[in-house]
Amino acid sequence: MENKQSADVLLTADRTLMSNYHHNEFLGFGTCAPPNFLPEWLYSYLFFPPIETTSDHPWTAPYGLRKTEAQLIKEGFKVDTVSPHHLGKHLKDAKVLGVHAMDPFGLGPASTTLASIFKKEPYLAKHFQALLRSPQVREAKKNGLKIIVGGPGVWQFHYREKAAKGLGIDCILEGEGENVVGKLFKAAVEGQDLPSHYEVDLGETPSIDEIPDIQKPSINGLLEIGRGCCRGCQFCNVTLRPLRWYPPEKIERELNVNLNSGKVNGACLHAEDVMLYGSKNTTPDPEKLLQMHQMVMKRVDSISWSHCSLAAVASSPKVFRQISEIIQQKQDWWGVEIGIETGSPEIAKKIMPAKAHPFSADKWPDVVVEGMGLAHDNNLVPACTLIVGLPDETEEDIAKTMDLVDDLKGMRSLIVPLFFVPLGHLTNKDWFTKTKLSERHRELLIQCAEHDFYWVDNLLDWSFNDKWYSPIMKEFYKGFSAIAKHKVREIE
Ligand code: SF4
Repeated sequence: MENKQSADVLLTADRTLMSNYHHNEFLGFGTCAPPNFLPEWLYSYLFFPPIETTSDHPWTAPYGLRKTEAQLIKEGFKVDTVSPHHLGKHLKDAKVLGVHAMDPFGLGPASTTLASIFKKEPYLAKHFQALLRSPQVREAKKNGLKIIVGGPGVWQFHYREKAAKGLGIDCILEGEGENVVGKLFKAAVEGQDLPSHYEVDLGETPSIDEIPDIQKPSINGLLEIGRGCCRGCQFCNVTLRPLRWYPPEKIERELNVNLNSGKVNGACLHAEDVMLYGSKNTTPDPEKLLQMHQMVMKRVDSISWSHCSLAAVASSPKVFRQISEIIQQKQDWWGVEIGIETGSPEIAKKIMPAKAHPFSADKWPDVVVEGMGLAHDNNLVPACTLIVGLPDETEEDIAKTMDLVDDLKGMRSLIVPLFFVPLGHLTNKDWFTKTKLSERHRELLIQCAEHDFYWVDNLLDWSFNDKWYSPIMKEFYKGFSAIAKHKVREIE
């Protein structure tokens, strides 16, 4: 039932985040691109069409925003999540606006790479800033509205300190917010001063019992199954948080919220490594993994994974095949994002020594080939990331990464090279920009683009085989891909 009372707290996200990406998370990567040769209206429609709404409320919303909403409801706030297109008319009575941010200045690895090649700000950043600069938000600010921004991209404000003020933001909330959003939003509703940047410290990190269930459906049925990661890669923020897994009952309750809404019939399982669900270390727990997949698959039409590790796949081929069989009872393939990062054992040993665990770091390229081979044979389609410009990277390291990409040629996947961004334990290191691109780097970028263009037609055929408009859409994406291929070859 919709809330008829006017809400003190409004929650929203910009239009690149309030989209179901045609139910294909891979298309969400399109938000990281800058405006390009396609007219903006067409590009937006192809990659981030606006979410459907009822009475200005989005049918589904980003999972992180739904968690904040759930926590605020639990603490007795009058809260309303509205679509960015309809925000204006709700601002009159609101006291606080909470905004979810993913990549507010385009400093995330994918955006930085594309922006420095094409020399323009990505759509994600453009729409985040446009939302806060809109005349309606400015007007509401003059009338006392407080603005709190949270989400996975707020670390970027450390690099854009003055921007928060310019955008009218009162408080930036960084980290897992469950134990602190209540006090911050209460202070904001009461018109008190807020800390300009609140970083959740380790002692405030919520336990599983303190994380509320979402109350309303999430985009594409995203379901968190755990938080944190135990691999400790030095360039990663996630690793600074403890590992916690949701019990199956909690996953099922959130699944019910999504399915009972009638707006979602699939699930995207979200964890840093879905293959490690329920395990205490880097070895998969077959029983918990299989039971959880059986429970979810019984209820949904389709499934995808947010992330998994190749080490976990390679170490447990039997359970991986069994999961694939469960999933393939209802669909031909499923997708996931996977970090390869480097083909150099020397770099792996230095900055991600546990990424290959239970194998040793100097076997990393073999682990990648083994895991990717299993993924290919069992119809898991990975979108893989490589990090270009890691600290102390040598020409030899890049050559080893190129050898690895060559070994992956026959394996159905996308490989996306990303410029190094100083995060996690490497925040004091330098950013990597296009000016530092060596000839070898350029060859690696082209090699990845060739790999992707080789597989993209195949993936489009698999992705768009079930809707009446699929053949038309497919041709559009293929056309876009062909032009993009031409542009990539023009990079100097
Ligand atoms: S495995 Fe992934 S999530 Fe875990 S620390 Fe490494 S990069 Fe971060």
